[in-house]
Amino acid sequence: MARASDRIPENVDGELFVDSSCIDCDLCRQLAPATFSRTDRRAQSYVAHQPAGEGELHRALMALVTCPTSSIGTTRKLDTKAAARSLPEAIADDVYFCGWAAESSYGAASWLIRRPGGNVLVDSPRAAGTLLDRLDELGGVRLMFLTHRDDVADHAKFRERFGCERIIHRADAVGDTRHAERIVEGDAPIALADDLVIVPVPGHTRGSCVLVYRDTYAFTGDHVWATDDGTGLEAGRGVCWYSWPEQKRSMEKLATHRFTHVLPGHGRRFHASADAMRDELRRLARAM
Ligand code: SF4
Repeated sequence: MARASDRIPENVDGELFVDSSCIDCDLCRQLAPATFSRTDRRAQSYVAHQPAGEGELHRALMALVTCPTSSIGTTRKLDTKAAARSLPEAIADDVYFCGWAAESSYGAASWLIRRPGGNVLVDSPRAAGTLLDRLDELGGVRLMFLTHRDDVADHAKFRERFGCERIIHRADAVGDTRHAERIVEGDAPIALADDLVIVPVPGHTRGSCVLVYRDTYAFTGDHVWATDDGTGLEAGRGVCWYSWPEQKRSMEKLATHRFTHVLPGHGRRFHASADAMRDELRRLARAM
């Protein structure tokens, strides 16, 4: 629960605020850019503009329920039910942003793919009751793909609720993910189904993997994401826990796969034509 006594000084006056527990996951700024901005003083979000109208308030409340640390508060009780039920949010016909981020995954984004062969949950959101019910309404979860060891959060609760098969690379199957139903191995691409390919991308962690769906969407975990200005792609040496040279090689390998959208765990989404995506991945690999 956000505390008004801890509201950070940059918040503009009004009923919505961010407190000092913010971990700078960026999700509120992605969900409600009209309301939230990032402070220059330190890496945290703040309310730069109070929501103007119902539409902006709805987006701000989606951010409130998504915030992994409950750092967004209101000075009076607001009804968040409609905002909570609007997650997962469709970003394309069959691909959804889940919201409901978990603090144990440091606020990583997770994704739902709705497909005839069975829905896929990519990485673990917080297992909130409203989200579990919404996932049920959207057809449940057949597979839970874990891109790497850091963003697994409440995976066991999703397994318990949906009976989904959890998939993770052996090198990242640590702790309770060692009990995942399917452990993949090696560095070669793995066809999970006609429309799903696992691309192992060691670097950020030894067992990091990208999931490519319909040659269109790449769920990249913490391997690669968009630059802040949205004009290109970047990776983070400061958050590379295994091997930067390996991550560079993995970037070159990923460039041989066709897709048009990067949907990361941390960081911004990126969209480009397949050719432009390949060129951008190659440019990034050279820069690394
Ligand atoms: S969603 Fe929460 S933790 Fe993430 S940047 Fe916003 S206020 Fe901070």
